[in-house]
Order: sequence, then structure tokens, then C-alpha cells
Amino acid sequence: MKIILNSSILKKELKEIKNLGFVPTMGSIHKGHESLIKKSKKTCEYTIVSIYINPTQFNNLNDFKKYPKNINKDLKILKKLKVDLVFIPKTKDIYNFKRSKKISLSHKDKILCAKYRKGHFEGVIDVMDRLTKLIKPNKIFMGEKDYQQFFLLKKFIEKRYPSKIINCKTIRDNKSIALSSRNILLKSKSLKIAANVVKELRNIKKNLNKQKNVQIYLNERIQNLINNNKIKLEYLELRNLKDLKTSTTIKNSRLFIAYYIENIRLIDNL
Ligand code: AMP
Repeated sequence: MKIILNSSILKKELKEIKNLGFVPTMGSIHKGHESLIKKSKKTCEYTIVSIYINPTQFNNLNDFKKYPKNINKDLKILKKLKVDLVFIPKTKDIYNFKRSKKISLSHKDKILCAKYRKGHFEGVIDVMDRLTKLIKPNKIFMGEKDYQQFFLLKKFIEKRYPSKIINCKTIRDNKSIALSSRNILLKSKSLKIAANVVKELRNIKKNLNKQKNVQIYLNERIQNLINNNKIKLEYLELRNLKDLKTSTTIKNSRLFIAYYIENIRLIDNL
């Protein structure tokens, strides 16, 4: 496994490579990332994983500072998975040009996390634009856990590059909590709350189709969810997977949630 820290060396290294699969990450590799890597290895001849905690996508400095870092452990896992190349760039290498036109989201995209994390997706799109330009992958593998991220990047990247964005299903732990690098920051009591939230969401979803008025039902259940779990809820919304518009039917739709336990922000969709 090659480890490359510099973009000009990376360019040379990738020159002759065809059928390239790319898995962008912010490190603290877990089974969710692993599933993306395995899918890339299955369908592509060469797999590159990037580890880069992109500062421009953090709307909160404290969140950026406390984001988990485990580079040695990550490299061991990636080596075991037989990743071909790991790219660990520096910020000055990624942000090496100023764009003439600022990245901005359309009004209709300013929903869910985009509404609550100002500038977050603009930062994600910016870094993915830069990484895609540099790496020129055939396929980019992204997790459905961050569905809105996948949705926005699919639109942005596939319009500008020949690269295809491939969605991969959410990997969960034995309590059904969606795996996330941030979960290491949770105490065992908080993990129990997170597990209970998933359980309640599954129950809400199961009962949604029986309701005459989905929104009234959701509002009731939202209150229960907050009271039962003492979470700080940002949103719980039923949205269509195709266009992320609000939905009143379970068909082709998912419940999207963002909430805080002990100041740790968690997202999921079911
Ligand atoms: P991150 O390191 O959190 O930026 O995530 C890197 C990639 O892994 C993104 O495409 C995420 O959507 C994906 N990912 C993170 N957690 C999971 C999970 N539990 N299951 C599947 N994919 C995931």
C-alpha cells in the first residue's frame, strides 16, 4: 500500500491507472468506511482512499478541533483491506487555488443539514471538486448515512466530471446505531440513547402508513422522542429519496433525523 502526502506526487502515481475507485474519508476508519472500500475493490482495478479532515466544512471550530484522529490505526486497517493507495494531503495542497465563483447552494437545497449547518455543504462540495479534479476517479463511493451529502455531490460532480458517484448502504452496529467516527466520542449512556432513537424511528416508520395525517402523527411522535430520550432534536422529516422533497407517504421516502446527545451531533436516515 502506497502512502502519499503530496498532490504532485499523487498525479504522477495515478497517470497510468485505469478504472480507479476513490473513497474519500475524514479518517477514524470504521466498518462503514470499510464497506465503501470493499465495494470499490470489487468493481474497480485500483482503490485510493483519502484521509483529510476538511476545515472548510466545519461550521463550528470546536467540532473541528475535537474531530477524532487515529492515523496509525487507520493505516493498519487500510493495509489489511489491501487498499492500493492512501492519500493524506495538507490543507495548502488542497486549497492551492482560489475559485473565481463561490460555491453556493440553491434555495431548494437549503434544507435538512444545509439549513442547520451554514456553509457545511459548500465546504464539502469545494473539497470534493478539488479532489475529483486531482484524482480523476472513474467511481467515487459514498455512504447513504450522509444521504444529503451523497445527493448534492451526485448532482454537482456528475454534471462536471465523467466520474460516477456510487451510493453504499448504511452500516450499523449490533444495536442498529449507524456507525460514525463521532460515535467514539459518546459515553455508554449516550450510546443507549442513540440505540433507542433508532428503535423509535423504526417504530414511527412502521406506523406511518396507517396514519390519516402523516404530519400530525410525526409532530406527536417528535414530542415523545424528545421527552423519552432527552435529546436536542434539530429535525425529523419524511423526505423523498429522489429529490429530497417533503413526503407524506413512506413509498420511496425516508425519515431524516439530526440531533444532539451531550453536544455530539448525530444524523441518520431510515
Ligand atoms: P466521513 O469519514 O465521515 O467523512 O465518511 C466518509 C464516507 O464514509 C462518506 O461517504 C460517508 O457517507 C461514509 N460513511 C460514514 N459512515 C458510514 C456508515 N455507517 N455506513 C456507510 N457509509 C458510511
